[in-house]
Amino acid sequence: MFKLFTCSSNRVKAVARALSYKTNSISGVLQLQVMLNVNNIRKDFPILNRKVNGKPLVYLDNAATSQTPKQVIDAIVDYYSNYNANIHRGVHTLSQEATDLYEASRIKIQKHFNAKHAHEIIFTSGTTHGINLVANGFASLLNKNDEIIVSALEHHSNIVPWQMLCERTGATLKVIPMNLEGELLMDVYDTLLTAHTKLVFVNHISNALGTINPIEYIIEKAHNVGAAVLIDGAQSCPHIKPNVQELDVDFYVTSAHKMCGPTGVGMLYGKEAWLNKLPPYQGGGEMIDQVSFKKTTYAALPHKFEAGTPDIAGGIVFGTAIDYMNSIGFEHIAAYENELLGYATKALQTIEGLKIYGTASNKTSVISFNLEGIHPYDVGTILDKLGIAVRTGHHCTQPIMDFYKIPGTVRASFAFYNTKEEIDILVSGVKKAKMMLS
Ligand SMILES: *Cc1c(COP(=O)(O)O)cnc(C)c1O
Repeated sequence: MFKLFTCSSNRVKAVARALSYKTNSISGVLQLQVMLNVNNIRKDFPILNRKVNGKPLVYLDNAATSQTPKQVIDAIVDYYSNYNANIHRGVHTLSQEATDLYEASRIKIQKHFNAKHAHEIIFTSGTTHGINLVANGFASLLNKNDEIIVSALEHHSNIVPWQMLCERTGATLKVIPMNLEGELLMDVYDTLLTAHTKLVFVNHISNALGTINPIEYIIEKAHNVGAAVLIDGAQSCPHIKPNVQELDVDFYVTSAHKMCGPTGVGMLYGKEAWLNKLPPYQGGGEMIDQVSFKKTTYAALPHKFEAGTPDIAGGIVFGTAIDYMNSIGFEHIAAYENELLGYATKALQTIEGLKIYGTASNKTSVISFNLEGIHPYDVGTILDKLGIAVRTGHHCTQPIMDFYKIPGTVRASFAFYNTKEEIDILVSGVKKAKMMLS
């Protein structure tokens, strides 16, 4: 998927200078890592060939959902063509094969995130489900003297479950504030932590602004006061490979559909001790009588949290999506996307009256912006006419929009299959929108 040239050091240095790529010396041999072969990668994504409003699709809404490579699409077809059966309950061959594939995927996910045990990986329907599972579990562990800390950069799915939890338990919700660049204020965070803090809840990367949060620091400080930490990795997993043991994080959640997988499936990582402590999510509701009081699904981890028939195909191909992304390599993905971010930021900044929201020094390939005096929805509508897919609105982060006193933004978010040519199309589209609307 990428080219790794190993050749004589002089030539490498010259090429490196010409391309301004980093070189690093490995046992005397200079290795130069050249960008991804994007043209080849794009062939894996059938949807990128389609037209929208008569124009070639320029898909820049990757932070909402990523596109699906044919390897993953093929794996879904393969499952329904050859293995479709319910898992963990049949003695027949198909059921066993489906179960084996499902459990093999769990192990793939375990390895990818470097969890200690496979049973620390819980299949969920996505990030939102994972967060609610943990929030619900904590309801039985909190009382009115306890405190939960979230950040000002959170997605609604990271705010509402905690508000509901506080309503149920009487616990207090505190918020880590942010600055104009879109960075969390760590000195204020330090002052929010007390002996009453039971849970800290932050996203790894902000979906609205792209800020990469200092979660190592956040986790360490929370642990110093005995609080558990849940990290929302929905925006980080498409760009980096989190190592949950190294982070020493208590819970980590993500969705497959943001990392080349299908919708409707995701994972919750939890440390074994925590998962054993939390009650089953569906233990109190009506559904429990129907689906999860079967002793086979309720006994031990991970089945304790996986009542009912899951998205079996989704769970299996989540593993395929992880394989696909690893075959490209996260270090290459991050380097290439960073290049796209720099290129797009520079180009958009040349447009007079365009303001970018979220200028953290550490951010991923997300650009939120507005044209002065023009509603983001109108910009998005014109871009769509040109075949360009961006997100407009508050991005499920109304508190961030309130902070900037704006109704929303236009958000362009780039993936490893996007190109500089597509960014050029975006920039000329924004210029056109500005001309038409002002
Ligand atoms: C997308 C997203 C979510 C919600 O993910 P779902 O797949 O809709 O459950 C939560 N947090 C962040 C940061 C996101 O980007």
